[in-house]
Amino acid sequence: MLLALLTLSACDNAPGTQVLEGKTMGTQWRVSVAALEPPRAAQLRQRIQQQLDADDHNLSTWKADSVLSRFNRYQGSAPQPVDAGMADIVTVALRIGQKTGGAMDITLGPLVNLWGFGPTKQPVHTPDAAQIAAARAQTGLQHLRVIQGVAGQWLQKDLPTLSVDLSTLGEGYATDHLARLMEQEGIRDYLVSVGGAVLSRGKNPQGRPWRVAIQKPTDRENAVQALVDLQGHGISTAGSYRNYYELDGKRISHVIDPLSGRPIEHKLVSATVIAPTALEADGWDTGLMVLGSEKAQALALKEQLAVYLISKEGDRFVSWMSPQFAAFLIGDE
Ligand code: ADP
Ligand code: MG
Repeated sequence: MLLALLTLSACDNAPGTQVLEGKTMGTQWRVSVAALEPPRAAQLRQRIQQQLDADDHNLSTWKADSVLSRFNRYQGSAPQPVDAGMADIVTVALRIGQKTGGAMDITLGPLVNLWGFGPTKQPVHTPDAAQIAAARAQTGLQHLRVIQGVAGQWLQKDLPTLSVDLSTLGEGYATDHLARLMEQEGIRDYLVSVGGAVLSRGKNPQGRPWRVAIQKPTDRENAVQALVDLQGHGISTAGSYRNYYELDGKRISHVIDPLSGRPIEHKLVSATVIAPTALEADGWDTGLMVLGSEKAQALALKEQLAVYLISKEGDRFVSWMSPQFAAFLIGDE
């Protein structure tokens, strides 16, 4: 039943709205703006696709020739040059990693692969404690650093086998990058998304706020739980139900707890975060998802984050929101 859920959906069907769409990073991108002349729309669509393809070429751990894959294959400790975007993502990821006590961990690659969610194949049997310990020994945020200099920026690792996985942040980063492209193009009112990360600024062509709906976890399609106006912020949802498989009769989530080295198993169904950038929202949602509902609530309050959590209590779904999240809520119009 849970698989039928859609957690975030952009309400961009107001008259006069033009929607451009395409594929990137194994998911869908979508840009909504006021109607454009056809040549302008075609040109914008092409620029968007080129930019997203370049981001994917930079960040993908699925593409062997990406900048990140080359860094991962490199087994030495000399600083490796990266572009400003990559340095930003890793800096934000390390900060959120630290603030979540290591729950959000971009060095988790060996564990992701062990559990079958990376470019390597799914396991046939549940990995045993020794395999988990061996994979865990190749991870750790303390082994990675970003060097910022006048001449550029570099990534450095002090564990030769360390591998960086930005899968959980790529959509957020690409969404922010799309928003920057809109600004460069002189477009001030837009709703952009890549996969589950969304950002909107300004108003829709009807002069109303762009709205993003958080769907209710029920059987009913399109049951809206909350509507938000992002006001220039990014939003992202992490969920335990979208990507999983069954192994030895158990449901295996693709979100892994770095502490135990095992896929998460708790009653928190989804964590939605609104933050100044979609990148931050995408980083926090994963960390909160790993922490589970009690710790996620405490951290949201401590860090004053705009957070919306949905947990499964028996047969019921229970939601919780932080005061900062409530500030983004709008009524149905
Ligand atoms: P969701 O579908 O919940 O939005 P994402 O696609 O954003 O999740 O991220 C899931 C991916 O992130 C996994 O496939 C894995 O590559 C990586 N990942 C899993 N656990 C963690 C973690 N604790 N910290 C950072 N990245 C993780
Ligand atoms: Mg995320």
